[in-house]
Amino acid sequence: MTAAASAFASSRRLVLKIGSALLTEGGRANLARISVLGEEVAALRGRGVEVIIVSSGAVALGRARLGLSRSARLDEKQAAAAAGQSLLMQAWETALSPHGLTPAQVLLTREDTERRRRWLNARSTMDALLRLGAVPVVNENDTVATEEIRYGDNDRLAARTAQLARADLLVLLSDIDGLYDADPRSHPHARHMPLVETLNAGIMAMAGDSNADAAVGTGGMRTKLEAARIARSAGCATVIASGLNDRPLGAIADGAPATLITAPAGPMAAWKAWIAGSVDPSGRLVIDKGAIAALKTGKSLLPTGVQGVDGRFDRGDSVLVVDPTGRRVGVGLAAWASDDMLLIKGRHTTEIERLVGYRGPQVAIHRDDLVLEGE
Ligand code: GLU
Repeated sequence: MTAAASAFASSRRLVLKIGSALLTEGGRANLARISVLGEEVAALRGRGVEVIIVSSGAVALGRARLGLSRSARLDEKQAAAAAGQSLLMQAWETALSPHGLTPAQVLLTREDTERRRRWLNARSTMDALLRLGAVPVVNENDTVATEEIRYGDNDRLAARTAQLARADLLVLLSDIDGLYDADPRSHPHARHMPLVETLNAGIMAMAGDSNADAAVGTGGMRTKLEAARIARSAGCATVIASGLNDRPLGAIADGAPATLITAPAGPMAAWKAWIAGSVDPSGRLVIDKGAIAALKTGKSLLPTGVQGVDGRFDRGDSVLVVDPTGRRVGVGLAAWASDDMLLIKGRHTTEIERLVGYRGPQVAIHRDDLVLEGE
């Protein structure tokens, strides 16, 4: 079994990124390929794997629809994205609904994955979609994202999505079947690399520059490795495989050449290591003995166990959790800003809505966002 095939077989939640060049042809959606991918996603779902699609193609489709040439003007590109995104979703509807799957459009901007408060919101929406059995279809919100605040390419967007969703595998479908030790288009003896376990400067250099000369899309091997680096630091492995095969995902499973870039830890371990390493907690929650006992059995911290709130913090900021004597119990990400936390501390979960005026998170810190001392 290839390294990529075994990572693919053991994945429970994966992000599948497909570029414009694979999804569009002459300014139209490549329905044949999108339908095959729809079938393959359905097969994965059939064996209990959660799938998030990151789909490019909005700009390419919209350009053709609006009769625009390949123009560099940002406002026209943004207009193209607006006109093309609906066609893109239509194509995914056509591909997924015959299998009883509901595509759900998620448009992200860089801020959604880089500002912690927005990150928590985007994450809970993504979790809810998966829980409800939908297939999130993610793209960058190109229509509002201006140059300075863009991801710029969907490889990076896919990596951030994998991080957000705590996926264990990122599959980047490309026009090439993985990483080579030199550019195979100019070096016929370039060797294919099935397994990459470190992303050092030598490996990054093998990728060369991004494919600026490609007609559609913006990715290249370089951006793919940069995406893999982001995914890796979030505990998510990456497979770079060809999207040109008849059944691209089936081909990975059957051992077609592909590159696996491993991640040293799983997504949850990486997330917790990141929380534990947060340098500058913005506040403190003093919790009671009952809450400490509950946390030790793996429960979330409920407002009822919070006795005191110190400092000013926003939702998503890291806070220290201490016992009534001030001893450190752990560190976590606050599910509520300090003002709201003051309102709900010591109160029962059922009172939250009345106290803050809307139905927000039912916890003070979710157990996934909490690292106890010694953990
Ligand atoms: N978000 C762009 C689109 O949907 C694609 C960006 C990319 O190709 O990486 O057209």
